[in-house]
Amino acid sequence: MDPEVPEFVLNDVNEADRRLREMGARKILLQLPDGLKPYTFDYFNYLSRRYDVIVSSSPVYGACDIGPSYLYEKVDAIVQVGHSIMRNVNYPKPVIFIEHYKTIDIKDIDTSPIGKYHRIGLLYSIQYRYTSDRVRQILESRSFEVVMGRSDRRMTYDGQVLGCNFSSVHSIENQVDAFVIVSTGVFHAIGSQISTEKPVFLLDLNEMSLRSMEREADAFVRKRYAQIFRSMDSRKICFMVDTRIGQRRERLARTLMESARSLGKDAVLSYTDNISDQDIQNMGCDLVVYTGCPRVPIDDQERFSVPVLTPAEFSMAFLKSTNGYVLDEIVSVDDATDQ
Ligand code: SF4
Repeated sequence: MDPEVPEFVLNDVNEADRRLREMGARKILLQLPDGLKPYTFDYFNYLSRRYDVIVSSSPVYGACDIGPSYLYEKVDAIVQVGHSIMRNVNYPKPVIFIEHYKTIDIKDIDTSPIGKYHRIGLLYSIQYRYTSDRVRQILESRSFEVVMGRSDRRMTYDGQVLGCNFSSVHSIENQVDAFVIVSTGVFHAIGSQISTEKPVFLLDLNEMSLRSMEREADAFVRKRYAQIFRSMDSRKICFMVDTRIGQRRERLARTLMESARSLGKDAVLSYTDNISDQDIQNMGCDLVVYTGCPRVPIDDQERFSVPVLTPAEFSMAFLKSTNGYVLDEIVSVDDATDQ
């Protein structure tokens, strides 16, 4: 083994090689998340011994993104490291997903914040799948009853949550008293809390403590309502579809666009692979309804000079569809073969 190449890189390469050989692939597209990009040369050099490799230098945040079609149409297979397959996406090329896990050695957890609950729904971000097994053991040893949520076809594993899908929460919310989510960042935990009336507690693995998500979820919802109110006088609305294969919701965008037109709004449908404020300004939009990754309007609003709403938020603002805040989730996407 080359002493400078980390073992996980060699494991990934060996796993990819085994599966690429089985399918007889020769030319591949390699996608690495930002955290693994410093190892690009290692992955490339090893895989290039046997395959014609193109590395994607673009960010890749999930299995929803296998790069642009002009690239993936040129290769026999795609190797994506760090994510797990989305079963609701009809990938037009074989995609090898090589999952990465962070296993954290948890000795003990102070369970007093959830002490008054008995049945706990356990959730996790994908990289903590195995760490959640240890959390389950600890909770059960303290006499909690632990229930894993059932994921829908967007995710690979029960209990998993994504920034665009909380089916593991919905499936068991009537069976549990509270949820515990194993993660490091807060977004998945806030999203889980907004998705259910039941209390959600984040087991923050950086701080090794359990904390309620109630206040952070309230603050999040207040910020989003500010954007919803800001959008209400908009006349020129752009319904924007993202080209990424696991984010394409053109049918939804068209339906919403027709609703906007029937309200007398000026509405257009657009496609993008990189939503930018400059493009929004050039088109003269007062409001963008973005049907791609639900995290973009939420995480990136400060980048934009006009409100950028999710489809659910547009429905709240203009179609008065609900009395409460609804987080956008992707349950299904347009089939690639329909494009
Ligand atoms: S759509 Fe967004 S939240 Fe969902 S997997 Fe893709 S990048 Fe992640």
